[in-house]
Amino acid sequence: MRLDPWKCPECDQPAKGTLETIPGIALLLFDEDGNAEYFGQTDVCWDGQTTVRDDRDRVRLICADGHEWLASINETNPQPIWRTEP
Ligand SMILES: [Zn+2]
Repeated sequence: MRLDPWKCPECDQPAKGTLETIPGIALLLFDEDGNAEYFGQTDVCWDGQTTVRDDRDRVRLICADGHEWLASINETNPQPIWRTEP
C-alpha cells in the first residue's frame, strides 16, 4: 500500500499509523428499579474496527507526536488493467 503524504507535514516523521474507530459496549449495571450506572468497563468489538476516512476516501494518519493529517491511499498492488472490448 502507498500513502501520500506518508510523512507528517509538521515534523516530517513517518506516520505511526492510521486513525481507527472501534465500537465498544460500555457495560451497564441496573438496580432493581431500572436505574442504570456505568460499570466502568468496555468490551471492545475488534471485528468492527474501521479506518477513519473522509468523503474523498482519504485516511487520517497520525505521527508519534500526535499530529494528524489526511492522506490518499492506494491499497492495491500494481496489476495489469483488464478491459472488456465492446
Ligand atoms: Zn508530526
